[in-house]
Amino acid sequence: MPARTLNSHTLLFSASLLGFVTAAMTSSLARASGTVRQAATAWSGAMCCMGITLLSAYLRGSIPEHVALTLLNAAAMAFALLALLAYARLFSLRYSAGAIGMVYVAQLLGIFGFQLMGTPREVVVLTLNSFITAELLWVALLIVRHGRDTSAPLRWVATTTIACFACLSTARIVMTLLGDSPAIDPSAQSNVQIVTLLGTSVAIIGSTIAFVLMVHDRQYREALESARRDSLTGVLARRAFFDELAALERQPGLAFSLVMVDIDHFKAINDRYGHLGGDAVLAHVGGLLHDTTRSQDAAGRYGGEEFCVLLRRCGEDEAAGFASRLIEMAAGATVRMPDGREVAFTVSAGYAGGHVAGAGTADAPSVREVLARADNALYEAKRAGRNRAMGARGDAPDASNSVLTLSRDVMAV
Ligand code: GH3
Ligand code: MG
Ligand code: MG
Repeated sequence: MPARTLNSHTLLFSASLLGFVTAAMTSSLARASGTVRQAATAWSGAMCCMGITLLSAYLRGSIPEHVALTLLNAAAMAFALLALLAYARLFSLRYSAGAIGMVYVAQLLGIFGFQLMGTPREVVVLTLNSFITAELLWVALLIVRHGRDTSAPLRWVATTTIACFACLSTARIVMTLLGDSPAIDPSAQSNVQIVTLLGTSVAIIGSTIAFVLMVHDRQYREALESARRDSLTGVLARRAFFDELAALERQPGLAFSLVMVDIDHFKAINDRYGHLGGDAVLAHVGGLLHDTTRSQDAAGRYGGEEFCVLLRRCGEDEAAGFASRLIEMAAGATVRMPDGREVAFTVSAGYAGGHVAGAGTADAPSVREVLARADNALYEAKRAGRNRAMGARGDAPDASNSVLTLSRDVMAV
């Protein structure tokens, strides 16, 4: 049987093609918008640079040596920094592209300075690969730290394939330190050469697939989140808010409060400033709710100009403080109408607190009863003259009407 050998020349060429093909593949993602587009563009650039690095190595001997080496070094350094930029954008980290560009120029000047000064090639290779290894390990660290929302296997593949690039770069450092030729020599048929080229091909494909899947994962989570939100006010849409209440019911014993908020005389705002004016007030109230709630709370648009806020681990006294602050903030601000006029408005609020029924709190009112009490309190605040917050009465709530309304509304979702 003839001996089967892998030709490093061919491997180098095919690995460079893989770099270009994966670059083209990721550039199609760049049609997305915002940070995903920037991340995809950077990754596409990184893979293109990887293709140039390998192609320059492949062409050594066919083109002037200094051209091949210049291209190889410049593209290899750009690859690592672009991969760093791609993941920084994917995780919405505030890494400045300008600063990364300056690091690149500094590295480039350093390496070419070395070459001009006639520094031994081993020193140049050691320095260059130390930069690249450090940057790629940084990328791997970013994925571990900031990719927690992604599924563990995907995060693992993304981290390992980037670490694989770092290992290949480290291998060149080790080879240089051991006295081997640091050059990527296409004519060398050594096992180390074959294994590194195969490893490079696997890392190119694996890291790009992992990156693309991470981009899709992020877009999917963003789409889910945006479906949960009311597009005008940014607070939870009605269905998502009731999902939060359902989740609350699965935490027996937990203290919570509900605050119903309604914009006063909103119809008059619509009548005077048009529906776009009314929308501006609604969006402003959504912003207020976003700014005044904690991460454990949930604010939702109950319907029309009515909102409901779930305050977790919060008693009725704290809910009173929250509602008063909200009323003051609403009354103290004005909203710019589409025609430039500033409009003042007020809101009314009703709040009620309770504990989720469960062991030890079996006689606690249900979440729906607390909601009905908050709703009643809101009507009290309206009747008492608006622009105020009122708590639910201590006595049994006249909830029958509201509970009926609520169940009808929930069924209508
Ligand atoms: P009150 O002080 O008693 O709450 O009176 P109000 O005028 O605020 O309440 P009313 O229920 O009479 O009017 C609510 C209005 O909200 C009627 C409806 O046209 C308007 N509305 C509901 N949803 C939207 C929306 O998304 N945008 C705008 N601009 N208006 C809306
Ligand atoms: Mg109203
Ligand atoms: Mg209303």
